[in-house]
Amino acid sequence: MNLQGGCYCGAVRYEAQGRPFNSTLCHCSDCRKLAGAPAVAWFSVRRDALRWTGREPVRFRSSGHVERSFCPACGSTLTFHDDHWPDEIDIATASLDDPEQVPPADHTYVRSRLGWMKMCDGLPEYPATRAAGKE
Ligand SMILES: [Zn+2]
Ligand SMILES: [Zn+2]
Repeated sequence: MNLQGGCYCGAVRYEAQGRPFNSTLCHCSDCRKLAGAPAVAWFSVRRDALRWTGREPVRFRSSGHVERSFCPACGSTLTFHDDHWPDEIDIATASLDDPEQVPPADHTYVRSRLGWMKMCDGLPEYPATRAAGKE
């Protein structure tokens, strides 16, 4: 799959090749605050499959093992990288030119979900990470 996207202003652009995986809608409070949105959709690709084609985003540590990136010009949330999973990187689904390409397959961090975010899509829900499982 050939995935292309970028930030709101167009300064940061990327291409990703290969099969996206772990597509999710994350309800954690970090994603929420950083994006200014009630939940943030992410999908993963192999880290070496992602190539920046415009300006590179700015990276920062949002917690000890998590590095995120955003556009320095417009602030769009772009990537999430967890040191525990060094070979993969998450891309904000809504930064795709066509976000319909990679619909979420589940909900993560539903223990932090806002009370007014009502889900009716029937997708699996995980209290925290998918790796931590259903309980
Ligand atoms: Zn931008
Ligand atoms: Zn999150």
